[in-house]
Amino acid sequence: MSYPNTRLLINGSWVDAKDKKTLAVVNPVNGEEIGRVSYAGKYDLDTALLAAQSGFEVWSKFTAIERSKIMRKAASRLREQSDQIALILTQEQGKPLAEAKAELMAAVDVIEWMADESVRIYGRIIPSRNLLASQMVTKEPVGPVAAFTPWNFPVIQVVRKLSAALATGCSIIIKAPEETPASPAALVQAFLDAGMPNGVIGLVYGDPAEISNYLIAHPVIRKVSFTGSTAVGKQLASLAGKHMKRVTMELGGHAPVIICDDADIDLAVKAMVGAKYRNAGQVCISPSRFYVQKSISERYIEAFTNAVSAISVGDGLNDSTKMGPLANTRRLEGVQSLVKDALTKGGNILTGGNRIGSKGNFFEPTVIHNLSIEARLMNEEPFGPVAAFQTFEKLDDVIREANRLPFGLSSYAFTSTLKNTHQLAQNLKVGMLWVNQAAAAFPEIPFGGVNDSGYGSEGGFEALEAYLTTKTVSIMNV
Ligand code: NAD
Repeated sequence: MSYPNTRLLINGSWVDAKDKKTLAVVNPVNGEEIGRVSYAGKYDLDTALLAAQSGFEVWSKFTAIERSKIMRKAASRLREQSDQIALILTQEQGKPLAEAKAELMAAVDVIEWMADESVRIYGRIIPSRNLLASQMVTKEPVGPVAAFTPWNFPVIQVVRKLSAALATGCSIIIKAPEETPASPAALVQAFLDAGMPNGVIGLVYGDPAEISNYLIAHPVIRKVSFTGSTAVGKQLASLAGKHMKRVTMELGGHAPVIICDDADIDLAVKAMVGAKYRNAGQVCISPSRFYVQKSISERYIEAFTNAVSAISVGDGLNDSTKMGPLANTRRLEGVQSLVKDALTKGGNILTGGNRIGSKGNFFEPTVIHNLSIEARLMNEEPFGPVAAFQTFEKLDDVIREANRLPFGLSSYAFTSTLKNTHQLAQNLKVGMLWVNQAAAAFPEIPFGGVNDSGYGSEGGFEALEAYLTTKTVSIMNV
């Protein structure tokens, strides 16, 4: 199966790094090198920054309708090429081909929705206290953006930032993941094919810390958007604060799932098994702490475990595969260490718990019951195919437990009563609550967290607002 090498996109051209440095890209199925990615140095970043400045001057002068048309053309191009790009994505990231294809289709949806929304960036007129004055509020693009995206959804993580920036008239330099570089490059190529002017989009790879330190501090950059871990997010947000840059942070979570005794058990099993083991659990909104009300806990946990035992694990390119390998060895080691710790904290493994084979990053879909809340798994985001179960008696108690951690990204609840639903909706400290369903992160819905899960939104009109500045113009008719 062919896999392309990836170069840097600077001022509309794909180029090697000035010093020709590259990094290996490996297939997580077997750890073998499948391609190379160019590694940007300071010279390359400087040329990308110059291009982003001139790209901004050009793009911000396009009308909203013109911007929208180019974005829609890029979406069509991406749709046409989605089968080929999905093959690339699966080879570099490991997820099953059907999930890669779904990621591409979701990306098309995001571009089209943002393109539509770009023509609705309205200002307003505020009635004046003086009849001779008119008071206007206008919205303007914030300026060139620096975006940093992770490897779990190589395309969708880029497209949310890219589309919001383009829709509002900003240029953008994206530092996409070195481990999964080719699918983001194919996404960006669709925008070039659609007629995007030079310099509006830059795409670089290299040393993440060196690049973020350089770009965030640089005066050309006016806005920073990062998706990744809370620890790195805090570093980048403080650097952005030092240089007074606008920031969107989409960070880690540890989503509680609350299953009440009046829930539809079959629905709660089907929805949560699908959501938990999608992308081998490497999803920021993955359900990860399961709390089941005592009277139904045995039935629920048994049905959940049976469904998990039936998940077929393998190479994402095989049709029968429902879960691929973990994307990198860091995740494999991370998950192994969390499971080991859970065993010392009372955890009872109901299924899984082990690495599969000795080649590639395969780990069994795992269910662990009854571990104490001191276990690392009850406190750290697993970011892997591991579900931790506990039981509860009273809703108040489980809400307190769900809110115990500093994260507040996604949460899930299964119940058939309005009373429980209201109590959960009013009291869970999260950015998103999904009741009786898995998450459906459509582009029109705000997507973001609270507390250590970050701030800002990557969906809904709020996502565009983050790339806009507000200007008041008051005109006195003299
Ligand atoms: P990590 O914290 O080293 O990196 C996370 C992402 O941030 C990667 O894409 C990495 O390239 C990038 N990064 C790291 N340091 C950076 C820096 N100084 N400047 C700019 N970018 C930087 O962790 P990891 O091993 O890649 O992933 C593990 C953890 O990251 C997970 O447990 C999870 O908490 C988090 N994560 C979250 C998401 C998400 O969707 N929110 C996605 C991927 C990873």
